[in-house]
Amino acid sequence: MSCDLLLTGLAGGGAVAVAGDRIAWSGPADELPHEVEVGETWDVGGRLVTPGFVDCHTHLVFGGDRSGEWEQRLAGAGYEAIAAAGGGIRSTVAATRAASDDELLSGAVRRAATLAAGGVTTIEVKSGYGLDLDTELRMLRVARRIPEQAPVDVVTTFLGAHTVPADAGREADAYVDFVCNEVLPAVAEEGLADAVDGFCESIAFTAEQIDRVFSTATSLGLRVKLHADQLSDSGGAALAARHGALSADHLEHASPEGIAELAAAGSVAVLLPGAAYVLDDPNSPPVAVLRAAGVPLAVATDCNPGTSPLVSLPLAMHLACTRFGLTVEEALAGVTVNAARALGLAGEAGTLASGARADLVVWDAERPAGIVYWLGAPPVHAVVKAGRVVSGARP
Ligand SMILES: [Zn+2]
Repeated sequence: MSCDLLLTGLAGGGAVAVAGDRIAWSGPADELPHEVEVGETWDVGGRLVTPGFVDCHTHLVFGGDRSGEWEQRLAGAGYEAIAAAGGGIRSTVAATRAASDDELLSGAVRRAATLAAGGVTTIEVKSGYGLDLDTELRMLRVARRIPEQAPVDVVTTFLGAHTVPADAGREADAYVDFVCNEVLPAVAEEGLADAVDGFCESIAFTAEQIDRVFSTATSLGLRVKLHADQLSDSGGAALAARHGALSADHLEHASPEGIAELAAAGSVAVLLPGAAYVLDDPNSPPVAVLRAAGVPLAVATDCNPGTSPLVSLPLAMHLACTRFGLTVEEALAGVTVNAARALGLAGEAGTLASGARADLVVWDAERPAGIVYWLGAPPVHAVVKAGRVVSGARP
């Protein structure tokens, strides 16, 4: 066995060997097999090394700017008044439809680069602000181009069933027909999505409507995931489980029965504390019930212009600890091994196991709490993406 790069001197006495774009070996440094031929050695000086972080739930591609709306909310304006004045998600849909591909890409790349500077090497990106055939396809194509300009891998998710568009005459059922009969087949035909998502909620789509979207997705060979039980118990967790979902996300109001079904289905629970923070939602996901049921917990930014303008995964980890009661170890697993599983990337990302992608972060920290503790300045020392140092410098 030979490796191009051997990281030694890791906190805890570990070492990681990288060959090409893959991890060749990792373990205690004194157990490195003698026959390994080492190219270059990099002593990281006792620093913590983790897998590259995986942000498994974002809405990174969008047009427009809703900071003014946030300012109105600070001044006491309610959601209804903002929506009546043309704000809310419909303003993002209008701005996204009006934006050029280059405008959408440059905004998404800027946010992806900010996430990457906080240790993220893989990002899931959803569509869902087009809600028409052309813009939904454009959003997914733009998402797939992000890695041309930022050091991340991108996984795409089609979220046509995000909200019912304002276009005249479009009822929810007719819109779901359109998604199932026209948009999803086009998405699958062009190979633009790795998974299909939906928003199951009283203000969006019923469980029966999402059921139709998911059945169509499955018939096209696509895995599913769901925005479930965020604002009320809509039966989302059970619906996701019934379709073998990769993940059920939000879950603030998930029932114990729904959680038991998620556990049986092997789905990941993706917790999104940024939205809970921005909405000042007093409800937390039932973490103790999820834990007791053995549902793997992931943490993501939910980066989006309306409810979670959050571009730091370490800050999302911090909020998951302080607001949702996760331990630091749970938060770390939530942005590595469990986040990868939520994207169908178990063994490929979010792990230092041999054979995985050589995506690593060297932290100016000796222990995980040293990452999560800081607000606003993730202590990244260097990032290795696919075996190459993409930020920070080797000594
Ligand atoms: Zn979301």
